[in-house]
Amino acid sequence: SPFVAAESRYADMPYRRAGRSGLKLPAVSLGLWHNFGDDKPLDVQRAVLRRAFDLGVTHFDLANNYGPPPGAAETNFGRHFAADFRPYRDEILVSSKAGYLMWDGPYGEWGSRKNLLASLDQSLTRTGLEYFDVFYSHRPDPDTPIEETMGALDTAVRSGKALYAGISNYSPEQTEAALAALKELGTPLLLHQPRYSMLDRWVEDGLLDTLDAHGVGSIAYSPLAQGLLTDRYLDGVPADSRAAGASPFLTSDRLTAETLATVRALNDIAGARGQTLAQLAIAWVLRRGRVTSALIGASSVAQLENTVAATANLEFADDELAEIERVLGR
Ligand code: NDP
Repeated sequence: SPFVAAESRYADMPYRRAGRSGLKLPAVSLGLWHNFGDDKPLDVQRAVLRRAFDLGVTHFDLANNYGPPPGAAETNFGRHFAADFRPYRDEILVSSKAGYLMWDGPYGEWGSRKNLLASLDQSLTRTGLEYFDVFYSHRPDPDTPIEETMGALDTAVRSGKALYAGISNYSPEQTEAALAALKELGTPLLLHQPRYSMLDRWVEDGLLDTLDAHGVGSIAYSPLAQGLLTDRYLDGVPADSRAAGASPFLTSDRLTAETLATVRALNDIAGARGQTLAQLAIAWVLRRGRVTSALIGASSVAQLENTVAATANLEFADDELAEIERVLGR
């Protein structure tokens, strides 16, 4: 049956301005890195996307290579978009990226103008979209002049194939260089997309300061540390979990006794707040407004609902934050 979005979809989700731009992102955004390839049933994918939009998740994040196989997440998203979301295009932000290995030969990855603009066209074809809201350089390329990579983002925006430019996985120094190049071109940088969670805090060593100073927004990926910062692994490794599956990005050797002890202690803090651990982890990356949006994954509607409900309590008392620091060994 045709999808009709819930009337209540804007009732609960907070929307937060990306840096000094005009664009607001949902506090929780949904990424399609895992769970949207050809290995996942289309009806589960569809249910997760529909529920997300009904909960006010207006932002869906893609990249050329998300799958498996690479490209499948864009193709599948395109299928769901055509069936369910086309009437809502102007209520939705869709992003994609280029930079990681996508096709054979010298032009299938990294940061050349050739790679970025060819990949952008491929991603538009796979999704069936006329434009992306945000188009990212997925990773810095040490062998391509930053002016060339940023020139490609500038072209993407000026051609109308993207509304805004983003970068991902750039260090503070690389971010400064990207900002200088974009300034010459007259195209603002909307967003940086770094990894950030209670278990990976590298952005606190300069990146967030750099972004604040330049009025650039941030969208934190893997805020649940791919599921480690949830109740998923408290009683072993479920057969249907990412750590048990084929993904090379989370393997069960990450579940050390030390990490599990930390996760259990955080789970207790979450309980004392009346939250699940996933909700605590999301509230923590969004704490005090330094990060614009938390970019989550979800393999089921139940997970999505659980995580998004974090927005009901994003506030922390000082002593709660201090207790978390202690548990994290800070
Ligand atoms: P998360 O840290 O949110 O991990 C998501 C996983 O955690 C789910 O697949 C699920 O694992 C588990 N999970 C989620 N919610 C719950 C819950 N409430 N209770 C129990 N378990 C839960 O994010 P991802 O690592 O998936 O990354 C999110 C997005 O970030 C990606 O889709 C992508 O868009 C972006 N990203 C960008 C990168 C970049 O280089 N720019 C790199 C990586 C990600 P399970 O599958 O086991 O059920």
